[in-house]
Amino acid sequence: MPRNIIIAGNWKMNKTSAEGADLARSIVQVIGNQTEITVILCPPFTALQAVGGIVSNSSVRLGAQNMSDKPAGAYTGEVSSAMLRDIHVTHVILGHSERRALYGETDAIVNKKTLAALENNLKPILCVGETLAERESNSTFDVIRTQIRGALDSVSPLQFDEVIIAYEPVWAIGTGKTATPAIAQEVHAFIRSELSALYGDTLSQKTRILYGGSMKPDNAAALLAQPDIDGGLIGGAALNAKDFIALVESGRSASVKKA
Ligand code: PEP
Repeated sequence: MPRNIIIAGNWKMNKTSAEGADLARSIVQVIGNQTEITVILCPPFTALQAVGGIVSNSSVRLGAQNMSDKPAGAYTGEVSSAMLRDIHVTHVILGHSERRALYGETDAIVNKKTLAALENNLKPILCVGETLAERESNSTFDVIRTQIRGALDSVSPLQFDEVIIAYEPVWAIGTGKTATPAIAQEVHAFIRSELSALYGDTLSQKTRILYGGSMKPDNAAALLAQPDIDGGLIGGAALNAKDFIALVESGRSASVKKA
C-alpha cells in the first residue's frame, strides 16, 4: 500500500490572524478540494481559529506548532491539547529544532508532549534532526536514534499508528541548504529501520516520514521521489500561497508516481 503523502506548512511566528486567514483562503481556493494527499496548515496559536474557519469546509487540516504536556492548571502562557482539540486542531508539531535549541525542549519533554497529544487524539508531527556539528562528527544516526527512542518512550503500537515523523536536519532549516535527495533518503531509511525495531515492519511501513529543511518548489520533486520520503514539512515556502500550492502540486504528482 503506498503511503499517503503529507504537505504541512509551519508558519512559525508569522502572520496575524487576518493575514493568516488571507493566506489560508488563497490556498483553499486552489487546492481545498483535492483529496489525493493530506495538506496541513500550522499557523501560530493566535491565528488558529481564523484559519480553522477558512479550512473547515475543505480537505485542508489544521495543525498547531507546539502544546503543553500538562492537561490544565497554573501554567502561565501554555496551551493544552484539549484547548487545541476544542478549536478543531487535528495535528501538532512537536520537538521542532527551534523549540529544542531556543526553549530547552529535551527528548523527555518531547516525550511527555507526545503522550499528552496522543491521549487527546491529536496527531503528533514529531521532528528529529542533527546539527551540522553532529553530522560532521558522524553522529547523525546516533542523534536520530536517541531522539526517536526518547520521544516515543511508552508510546504503544496503537498510539504510534497516529504519529508522523519529520526529519529536519538543523543545518538545512531556513538556510537555503537542502539535504540532497540521497542524504535525506539515507536518513529516512534509517528512521524507518529504527521504527521497525521498535514497532515492527507493518507499522513502520505505514508511517509517514516527512522531510523538512529548505524544501522549495524547485527541489521538492526530487526529494518526494525518494522511496522513504512521504511528504514535506515546509517553513519559509509555506508563507506564500504560490510556493505552497506548487509544493502541494509536487506532492500530488509524487503521489501519482508512487501509486
Ligand atoms: C521548518 O522549520 O520546519 C522548516 C523546514 O523551515 P524551512 O523550510 O524554512 O527550512
